[in-house]
Amino acid sequence: MKDLPKHKGLRNQLVQVLIDKGIKDEKVLNAIAKIPRHLFMDSSFIDFAYKDKAFPIGADQTISQPYTVAFQTELLEVKANDKILEIGTGSGYQTAVLVSLKAIVFSIERQKELFTKTKKFLPRLGYVAKKLIYGDGYNGLPNEAPFDSIIVTAGAPFVPKPLLAQLKIGGKLVIPVGDKEQVMTLFVRNSEKEFEKKEFDKFAFVPFLKDVSD
Ligand code: SAH
Repeated sequence: MKDLPKHKGLRNQLVQVLIDKGIKDEKVLNAIAKIPRHLFMDSSFIDFAYKDKAFPIGADQTISQPYTVAFQTELLEVKANDKILEIGTGSGYQTAVLVSLKAIVFSIERQKELFTKTKKFLPRLGYVAKKLIYGDGYNGLPNEAPFDSIIVTAGAPFVPKPLLAQLKIGGKLVIPVGDKEQVMTLFVRNSEKEFEKKEFDKFAFVPFLKDVSD
Protein backbone atom coordinates (compact mmCIF):
# COMPACT_ATOMS: atom_id res chain seq x y z
CA MET A 1 0.00 0.00 0.00
CA LYS A 2 1.22 3.43 -0.91
CA ASP A 3 0.65 7.05 -0.05
CA LEU A 4 -0.10 8.77 -3.36
CA PRO A 5 -0.74 12.42 -4.36
CA LYS A 6 -4.49 11.61 -4.56
CA HIS A 7 -4.40 10.62 -0.87
CA LYS A 8 -2.63 13.86 -0.01
CA GLY A 9 -5.36 15.75 -1.89
CA LEU A 10 -8.10 13.92 0.02
CA ARG A 11 -6.33 14.70 3.30
CA ASN A 12 -6.29 18.41 2.47
CA GLN A 13 -10.05 18.21 1.88
CA LEU A 14 -10.47 16.45 5.23
CA VAL A 15 -8.45 19.18 6.95
CA GLN A 16 -10.82 21.77 5.45
CA VAL A 17 -13.80 19.81 6.86
CA LEU A 18 -12.16 19.86 10.30
CA ILE A 19 -11.50 23.61 10.06
CA ASP A 20 -15.16 24.12 9.11
CA LYS A 21 -16.17 22.11 12.19
CA GLY A 22 -14.11 24.39 14.42
CA ILE A 23 -10.65 22.82 14.78
CA LYS A 24 -8.07 25.62 14.99
CA ASP A 25 -4.78 24.17 16.21
CA GLU A 26 -2.38 24.41 13.24
CA LYS A 27 -0.11 21.69 14.55
CA VAL A 28 -3.00 19.24 14.87
CA LEU A 29 -4.27 20.10 11.39
CA ASN A 30 -0.75 19.68 9.96
CA ALA A 31 -0.44 16.26 11.58
CA ILE A 32 -3.74 15.16 10.03
CA ALA A 33 -2.64 16.58 6.65
CA LYS A 34 0.50 14.46 6.86
CA ILE A 35 -0.53 11.08 8.33
CA PRO A 36 -1.73 8.48 5.77
CA ARG A 37 -4.94 7.44 7.59
CA HIS A 38 -5.83 5.04 4.75
CA LEU A 39 -2.89 2.84 5.73
CA PHE A 40 -4.36 2.39 9.24
CA MET A 41 -7.51 0.79 7.83
CA ASP A 42 -8.43 -2.49 6.16
CA SER A 43 -8.06 -2.24 2.40
CA SER A 44 -11.83 -2.69 1.96
CA PHE A 45 -12.40 0.68 3.67
CA ILE A 46 -9.66 2.61 1.87
CA ASP A 47 -12.15 4.67 -0.14
CA PHE A 48 -13.62 5.97 3.11
CA ALA A 49 -10.33 6.81 4.82
CA TYR A 50 -10.64 10.55 4.34
CA LYS A 51 -14.31 10.87 5.20
CA ASP A 52 -14.85 12.34 8.64
CA LYS A 53 -16.10 9.03 10.02
CA ALA A 54 -15.10 6.21 12.35
CA PHE A 55 -14.47 2.80 10.69
CA PRO A 56 -14.02 -0.80 11.82
CA ILE A 57 -10.44 -1.97 12.45
CA GLY A 58 -11.20 -5.55 13.56
CA ALA A 59 -11.74 -7.05 17.02
CA ASP A 60 -15.03 -5.10 17.17
CA GLN A 61 -13.15 -1.82 17.45
CA THR A 62 -13.00 1.34 15.35
CA ILE A 63 -10.48 3.92 14.23
CA SER A 64 -11.84 7.14 15.75
CA GLN A 65 -13.47 9.78 13.57
CA PRO A 66 -10.86 12.38 12.47
CA TYR A 67 -12.89 15.19 14.08
CA THR A 68 -12.82 13.31 17.39
CA VAL A 69 -9.06 12.76 17.15
CA ALA A 70 -8.54 16.44 16.30
CA PHE A 71 -10.87 17.63 19.09
CA GLN A 72 -9.24 15.49 21.78
CA THR A 73 -5.73 16.35 20.62
CA GLU A 74 -6.50 20.07 20.53
CA LEU A 75 -7.67 19.90 24.16
CA LEU A 76 -4.31 18.41 25.16
CA GLU A 77 -2.34 21.45 23.85
CA VAL A 78 0.61 19.16 23.15
CA LYS A 79 4.13 20.54 23.45
CA ALA A 80 7.30 18.83 22.21
CA ASN A 81 8.54 16.28 24.75
CA ASP A 82 5.26 16.13 26.66
CA LYS A 83 4.94 12.73 28.28
CA ILE A 84 1.54 11.42 27.21
CA LEU A 85 -0.39 8.28 28.12
CA GLU A 86 -2.97 7.10 25.60
CA ILE A 87 -5.57 4.51 26.55
CA GLY A 88 -6.93 2.50 23.63
CA THR A 89 -4.14 2.24 21.03
CA GLY A 90 -6.49 0.63 18.50
CA SER A 91 -5.24 1.26 14.96
CA GLY A 92 -2.48 3.55 16.25
CA TYR A 93 -3.79 6.56 14.33
CA GLN A 94 -4.21 8.76 17.41
CA THR A 95 -0.81 7.52 18.61
CA ALA A 96 0.71 8.64 15.29
CA VAL A 97 -0.87 12.10 15.68
CA LEU A 98 0.69 12.45 19.14
CA VAL A 99 4.08 11.15 17.98
CA SER A 100 4.09 13.58 15.07
CA LEU A 101 3.51 16.41 17.58
CA LYS A 102 6.81 15.23 19.13
CA ALA A 103 5.23 13.88 22.31
CA ILE A 104 6.76 10.96 24.19
CA VAL A 105 3.89 8.51 23.92
CA PHE A 106 2.94 5.51 26.05
CA SER A 107 -0.16 3.71 24.80
CA ILE A 108 -2.17 0.83 26.29
CA GLU A 109 -4.45 -1.59 24.39
CA ARG A 110 -6.46 -4.45 25.90
CA GLN A 111 -7.17 -6.36 22.67
CA LYS A 112 -4.21 -8.64 21.98
CA GLU A 113 -4.89 -8.82 18.24
CA LEU A 114 -4.90 -5.04 17.80
CA PHE A 115 -1.95 -4.58 20.13
CA THR A 116 0.18 -7.04 18.12
CA LYS A 117 -0.84 -5.62 14.75
CA THR A 118 -0.29 -1.97 15.69
CA LYS A 119 3.02 -2.65 17.47
CA LYS A 120 4.39 -3.99 14.17
CA PHE A 121 2.68 -1.45 11.95
CA LEU A 122 3.45 1.93 13.58
CA PRO A 123 7.27 1.74 13.39
CA ARG A 124 7.02 0.67 9.74
CA LEU A 125 5.38 4.04 9.04
CA GLY A 126 8.03 5.82 11.09
CA TYR A 127 5.83 6.68 14.11
CA VAL A 128 7.73 5.43 17.10
CA ALA A 129 5.93 5.48 20.43
CA LYS A 130 8.06 5.29 23.57
CA LYS A 131 6.16 2.19 24.66
CA LEU A 132 3.10 0.22 23.50
CA ILE A 133 1.62 -1.87 26.29
CA TYR A 134 -0.80 -4.79 26.26
CA GLY A 135 -3.01 -4.39 29.31
CA ASP A 136 -5.92 -2.73 31.08
CA GLY A 137 -5.94 1.04 30.84
CA TYR A 138 -8.10 1.45 33.96
CA ASN A 139 -4.92 1.24 36.02
CA GLY A 140 -3.01 3.77 33.94
CA LEU A 141 0.73 3.22 34.00
CA PRO A 142 1.93 3.85 37.57
CA ASN A 143 5.57 3.00 36.80
CA GLU A 144 5.85 5.76 34.22
CA ALA A 145 3.69 8.40 35.99
CA PRO A 146 3.34 11.35 36.27
CA PHE A 147 2.18 12.41 32.79
CA ASP A 148 1.68 15.83 31.18
CA SER A 149 -1.46 14.43 29.59
CA ILE A 150 -3.63 11.34 29.53
CA ILE A 151 -6.05 10.69 26.67
CA VAL A 152 -8.73 8.01 26.79
CA THR A 153 -10.01 6.98 23.35
CA ALA A 154 -12.86 4.71 24.49
CA GLY A 155 -16.17 5.63 26.16
CA ALA A 156 -15.68 5.51 29.94
CA PRO A 157 -18.62 4.71 32.27
CA PHE A 158 -16.78 6.64 35.00
CA VAL A 159 -13.47 8.47 35.50
CA PRO A 160 -10.85 6.02 36.80
CA LYS A 161 -9.14 7.49 39.89
CA PRO A 162 -5.68 6.13 38.98
CA LEU A 163 -5.71 8.26 35.83
CA LEU A 164 -6.30 11.50 37.76
CA ALA A 165 -3.63 10.45 40.26
CA GLN A 166 -1.08 9.95 37.48
CA LEU A 167 -1.24 13.55 36.18
CA LYS A 168 1.49 16.10 36.84
CA ILE A 169 0.38 19.33 38.49
CA GLY A 170 -0.91 21.31 35.50
CA GLY A 171 -1.49 18.03 33.65
CA LYS A 172 -4.61 17.25 31.61
CA LEU A 173 -6.90 14.22 31.33
CA VAL A 174 -9.18 14.12 28.28
CA ILE A 175 -11.83 11.44 28.65
CA PRO A 176 -15.21 10.80 27.01
CA VAL A 177 -17.59 9.96 29.89
CA GLY A 178 -20.95 8.21 29.57
CA ASP A 179 -22.65 4.97 28.56
CA LYS A 180 -24.53 5.24 25.24
CA GLU A 181 -23.00 8.55 24.28
CA GLN A 182 -20.18 10.34 25.98
CA VAL A 183 -19.54 13.89 27.12
CA MET A 184 -16.00 14.92 26.23
CA THR A 185 -14.50 15.92 29.56
CA LEU A 186 -11.26 17.70 30.40
CA PHE A 187 -9.69 17.60 33.85
CA VAL A 188 -6.77 19.90 34.66
CA ARG A 189 -4.82 19.16 37.82
CA ASN A 190 -4.40 22.50 39.55
CA SER A 191 -2.73 21.14 42.68
CA GLU A 192 -2.16 17.82 44.44
CA LYS A 193 -5.85 17.62 45.39
CA GLU A 194 -7.66 20.08 43.12
CA PHE A 195 -8.91 19.29 39.63
CA GLU A 196 -10.72 21.68 37.34
CA LYS A 197 -13.38 19.99 35.20
CA LYS A 198 -14.72 21.23 31.86
CA GLU A 199 -17.36 19.53 29.72
CA PHE A 200 -17.67 19.77 25.95
CA ASP A 201 -19.86 18.22 23.23
CA LYS A 202 -21.20 14.68 23.08
CA PHE A 203 -19.39 11.98 21.10
CA ALA A 204 -19.91 8.26 20.41
CA PHE A 205 -17.10 5.87 21.33
CA VAL A 206 -16.67 2.11 21.60
CA PRO A 207 -16.72 1.13 25.30
CA PHE A 208 -13.77 1.42 27.68
CA LEU A 209 -13.87 -2.17 28.95
CA LYS A 210 -12.61 -3.47 32.25
CA ASP A 211 -10.27 -6.46 32.75
CA VAL A 212 -7.99 -8.16 30.27
CA SER A 213 -10.12 -11.14 29.32
CA ASP A 214 -8.88 -12.19 25.89
N1 SAH B 1 -7.09 5.53 19.42
C1 SAH B 1 -7.70 4.52 18.58
C2 SAH B 1 -9.17 4.35 18.91
C3 SAH B 1 -9.53 2.93 19.00
S1 SAH B 1 -11.13 2.60 19.66
C4 SAH B 1 -7.49 4.82 17.11
O1 SAH B 1 -7.12 5.95 16.78
O2 SAH B 1 -7.65 3.92 16.30
C5 SAH B 1 -10.79 2.38 21.39
C6 SAH B 1 -9.79 1.34 21.77
O3 SAH B 1 -9.79 1.22 23.19
C7 SAH B 1 -10.10 -0.06 21.23
O4 SAH B 1 -9.00 -0.52 20.49
C8 SAH B 1 -10.30 -0.91 22.51
O5 SAH B 1 -9.85 -2.24 22.38
C9 SAH B 1 -9.50 -0.12 23.53
N2 SAH B 1 -9.88 -0.37 24.93
C10 SAH B 1 -11.11 -0.59 25.46
N3 SAH B 1 -11.04 -0.78 26.79
C11 SAH B 1 -9.71 -0.71 27.12
C12 SAH B 1 -8.98 -0.85 28.34
N4 SAH B 1 -9.59 -1.14 29.50
N5 SAH B 1 -7.64 -0.70 28.31
C13 SAH B 1 -6.99 -0.42 27.14
N6 SAH B 1 -7.61 -0.28 25.96
C14 SAH B 1 -8.96 -0.44 25.93
